[in-house]
Amino acid sequence: MLPGVTGWGRNGTDTRPLAADLAAGRGVERHVAALTLAGLLFLGAAMGLVNLFVDGVLREGAPVVVYGATMVLLMALGGWLAFFRRVGRWETFGLVLLGDLVYVVVAMCIEDPVRYATPLMLLFAAFVAAWFLGPVMLGVNMVATVVACLLAMWGSYDSALGLAVQVGVNSGVLNAAAFGVYVLRRRVQRLLEATQALSHQDPLTGLSNRRFLVEQAPRVWRQARREGSRVAAMVLDLDHFKQLNDAYGHAAGDAVLRAVAASLSAGVRPSDVLARIGGEELIVLGLVSDPAEAHQLAERLRTAVSSSRTDDGHSVTASIGIALARPVDGEDAGDAMWRLVDRADAAMYEAKQAGRNRVAAVLPRQRAGRHADSLPPADHDAA
Ligand code: GH3
Ligand code: MG
Ligand code: MG
Repeated sequence: MLPGVTGWGRNGTDTRPLAADLAAGRGVERHVAALTLAGLLFLGAAMGLVNLFVDGVLREGAPVVVYGATMVLLMALGGWLAFFRRVGRWETFGLVLLGDLVYVVVAMCIEDPVRYATPLMLLFAAFVAAWFLGPVMLGVNMVATVVACLLAMWGSYDSALGLAVQVGVNSGVLNAAAFGVYVLRRRVQRLLEATQALSHQDPLTGLSNRRFLVEQAPRVWRQARREGSRVAAMVLDLDHFKQLNDAYGHAAGDAVLRAVAASLSAGVRPSDVLARIGGEELIVLGLVSDPAEAHQLAERLRTAVSSSRTDDGHSVTASIGIALARPVDGEDAGDAMWRLVDRADAAMYEAKQAGRNRVAAVLPRQRAGRHADSLPPADHDAA
């Protein structure tokens, strides 16, 4: 261990890998929300404009102007949304409530709202709220739906009971439909999250898989550029694993793999990627400030493997190869990662040849490219 180096415990400004994925997902959702709202606003207003040309639909005088101006405003809002293509949660909520308000304005400008301003118009706002907003905002819109139905139908019924029944039926149907959409969306969302988690996971060990490693490369490279740090790849290969399988059976081998995975998981930072990419081969991809830090980390991982034990008392050791690189502007992160892994793999074979259960770094003669960093040979006696 080298003094002054804190290894994996460095101050992290890092975010968890999955958080980045989820943030990207939310970005796409905002994009979809903006386009959906733009389409609904534009189409709704275009259809509404037709009423200006149908005799007897609108009240005489000022309501015609208010109605026409409202439709034009909505079309302009739709165009604006389609242009910027981005709305946040609060903007979406504001637009949903605006949709309710517009319905009330339309109903008040119309001669016979029951015939010409069906509460079905509120369905647009209700579905957008159900699909894009959270439970509280959806709840607020459900109340707004009841109020909007009440205001729109206020003068259309002779008795309070008749009005109450119609408001109850219309807003009830609308809110039930919105709630159904909300439940459906939650199920779809959960299913997608579960599918995504499975597609990134190695079923035996629960570690990340090769696909996840590849997907994380751009994030790691971006972060290294931002922080001015180096990317370290470590290839870990279990020693004489075939012998263990032959001696105790594959089930015992699987148990050892699971124990090793659990032990390694506890030793890496949340921002580092620990993946099983082959039978008994694992990779750790993370950021380090210098070769000494990488070496200290690899030692820690080596110890984590050798100290892991299954319930039956089986254990194994690992040989680890390290390679470091500084990200270069314009390079493809995926290609750069595999070049780095190849170099770490070559170092891992050096560790095997030197006696196993040790750490080896890329030797100068194995350097690939002018941006490669190297470590001094760092073999250790077998524990
Ligand atoms: P070395 O120290 O040179 O790496 O020797 P080794 O025996 O570990 O290497 P070798 O490549 O000869 O054998 C790897 C073995 O890993 C062969 C295979 O049976 C075993 N293996 C690969 N995947 C799994 C798995 O999912 N479960 C189990 N139990 N064994 C596996
Ligand atoms: Mg192997
Ligand atoms: Mg092996």
